[in-house]
Amino acid sequence: MSGKIKLILAPNYWLHGDAMRGLPYGILPYGVAILKGSLIRGGYAADLCNLIMYMQRLFETRNRFSRLLRGKSYKYRLIRYYLGDNDRAVEKLVDHLLDSIYPDNSRIFGISVSSESCFLPALVLAKRLKERYKAKIVLGGPLINLYSQPIVTKYKYIDYVLRGRCEEPILKLLDYEKGNIGIKEVPNLETVYNNELLINEIKDYRLEDEGLPDYDGFDFEPYYINKEKKQFIIPYRCASGCLGKCIFCLHRVSDKKEYKSLDKVINEIRFLKEKHNTGYFFITDSTINDDVGYLERLCDRLISENINIYWMALAVPKRLKPDLLRKMYKSGNRYLRFGIESGSDRILKILGKSHTVLEAQETLKNCYDIGIKSHAHFMLGIDGESDNDIKSTNEFIIRCKKYICGLALWILRKNKGALICDKEMSGRQDNDRAGNIEYELLSPITARRGSYNHGYYSLLFRTASKYINKPFGSPSRYLFFVRIMTFLGINRKNQGIQAEILRILKCIFNA
Ligand code: SF4
Repeated sequence: MSGKIKLILAPNYWLHGDAMRGLPYGILPYGVAILKGSLIRGGYAADLCNLIMYMQRLFETRNRFSRLLRGKSYKYRLIRYYLGDNDRAVEKLVDHLLDSIYPDNSRIFGISVSSESCFLPALVLAKRLKERYKAKIVLGGPLINLYSQPIVTKYKYIDYVLRGRCEEPILKLLDYEKGNIGIKEVPNLETVYNNELLINEIKDYRLEDEGLPDYDGFDFEPYYINKEKKQFIIPYRCASGCLGKCIFCLHRVSDKKEYKSLDKVINEIRFLKEKHNTGYFFITDSTINDDVGYLERLCDRLISENINIYWMALAVPKRLKPDLLRKMYKSGNRYLRFGIESGSDRILKILGKSHTVLEAQETLKNCYDIGIKSHAHFMLGIDGESDNDIKSTNEFIIRCKKYICGLALWILRKNKGALICDKEMSGRQDNDRAGNIEYELLSPITARRGSYNHGYYSLLFRTASKYINKPFGSPSRYLFFVRIMTFLGINRKNQGIQAEILRILKCIFNA
């Protein structure tokens, strides 16, 4: 087998990328970069392409695809194109994307699907890659790990699916492609072999053995936070999984809870910092403070070994006492993202959150006092949510506005695999729905149409996106950033929710 292996982060049909998650800068791809490292160590030539970032730039700049991408019907045209409609504009876009990844002599394409909104674009790309290059297509990534149903029998242009941690499985797969081993020796693999579905055993790999991301030859320019110094934020994880039981969240099921040893963490952060000459890190753990003992020891090592970085992370708004926050600040932490979700304890309980309103308020205040900026996420559209609950959230935001440097409003989504979805699906005799990946992934897109395209959302988005915050920028202003997402199965009238969102926003912006 000759030629490069292309590792592609599939784009999403929803075009606002990392900035929408409260990260104003693009964050480098992480999982696929680790895979690339594994391939390089295994003696293969491999390339990385982040099509999420590419599409975001395409969306933001004026070009021949602007009309298509900015049109309200873009994602529905993508769906119809996938389902077989003739759409020259979409086809040109897909071909442009394929050209942008320089397929040259590559014959194996690994496509990583990081979220639900990337699945359809991944299918479109895979299908077109197969048509144009007769290439081998390998599908993997966090979203694919959540679905246990067979994929290769349904989407015949996909040759292989790899689930779980894939550093060794991808090397084994290439060994198989070279004829060195049998197909059954490739762990974590799903494929069709001799006209039959073959699903090999999922092998458990230790997080401690995870390799480093490899960005050699990668174009960092779109990721610079400081163009003159050519610095960008490096993603790195110390732990996998989450101990939380939030009913809407997929983190808790996508990976088991495991920690890297601190020796490994410190050595790798130091190595990445020196290699890329940048001192900014995003610790991507689902929650940095699941184990405060580990967090404290991590900070101690960063301080005592003079690692000298700035870092940001996601955290639960509890278990962060002032002493610990001071230590975190000293070790370089300047920015935390919290899933506050609600100002109502009743709603927090429904959502399965482990913190209380009071704990969240204290945590935000303590962060502010110590100099760590907080980005707060809130959630609307929860089953059983009353006007009083929304008012409580509204009041919470007003009480805490001084402590918050960034804010995101979300509307609950019922993702397959999340506890909320499992509960609702249990007991149903609906075989057409259960286990039907196409239904789960494509129909919610169309089902969201009514509310997502409502003028208020785009109006609010346009207003609020003027206020994007910068985690390492000036702390002197309140900068607010709002994300509105719609969800499947909303039980409140859209207008009611929009009015509440508008009310909350007015409180924030007029404050
Ligand atoms: S929302 Fe946060 S705390 Fe809750 S399960 Fe997900 S990652 Fe864990």
